[in-house]
Amino acid sequence: MSDGRALARAYLEQQRLLGTDAVMVPAPDESRSDAPLTEPTPGLRPESVEPPHPTTPEGRPTAGASTGRTDGTSDLPPSGLTYDPPAQDLFSADPVQRATTLAAVATLVAACTKCRLCEGRSNTVPGEGADRARLVVVGEGPGKTEDQTGRPFVGKAGELLTKILGAIGLAREQVFICNIVKCRPPENRTPQYDEIAACVPFLFRQIELIGPTVILAMGNTAAQTLLNTKQSLGAMRTKVHRFRGVPVIVTYHPAALLRNPNWKKPTWDDVRIAHRLLDG
Ligand code: URA
Ligand code: SF4
Repeated sequence: MSDGRALARAYLEQQRLLGTDAVMVPAPDESRSDAPLTEPTPGLRPESVEPPHPTTPEGRPTAGASTGRTDGTSDLPPSGLTYDPPAQDLFSADPVQRATTLAAVATLVAACTKCRLCEGRSNTVPGEGADRARLVVVGEGPGKTEDQTGRPFVGKAGELLTKILGAIGLAREQVFICNIVKCRPPENRTPQYDEIAACVPFLFRQIELIGPTVILAMGNTAAQTLLNTKQSLGAMRTKVHRFRGVPVIVTYHPAALLRNPNWKKPTWDDVRIAHRLLDG
């Protein structure tokens, strides 16, 4: 979504779905000229703009009431970072830019030796899912099972991701699931900066081809790469960031959740935000 009116429509629809007070004002977003144009008239009663719609008997929001949002009134988090890496021009000689399908990107990945991670791989793991997915999920890099199968998120963390997606009514096949680096780092170490830099054009092209409505960045590596920042995951959660205009929601990595079940609840909150943005 890139024009102001579409954003405004999406925003109002989210408010309707949430049954949220229409008087709340969206967080200002100085970084975009096409930010929502929808600051509702002060004092406007919610019921005057909302069609009858299921809320709790008391008229409270049905969703997200306990998410503990930072501004205390809104279920829509404030806007965060924006990253707008320039797309290559149409006549680029770069084969990644010339790839016009996800399959073509995957073919390039399969032959790639741009970084040292190619040395230890059994299979590349380009990512998989729907060509026109509305949600793109981005992790860090393939683990052992992924390296063996060539498929993303199929190990223990993957099982948890599949459950998380199921909880918002999405089957794996409906979304596109991928990673920042497409080859497994040795001992599952964090990918290094130069490896990420070498690999990320594949991901950026995949996102460009898919044109998703929302991106879910799972874990530090995904979030920091997509938003071009060193901010911590904790600082990035509960904001709506943008990558080339596409909303990015940041949450914990499923592998981290396996180690720390306390993060399940906040992750669930984050995923619901992504879900609401999808419904917009
Ligand atoms: N962890 C990731 O970040 N990606 C996978 O594909 C699997 C585990
Ligand atoms: Fe190429 Fe990415 Fe694999 Fe490195 S990790 S070899 S850049 S596909």
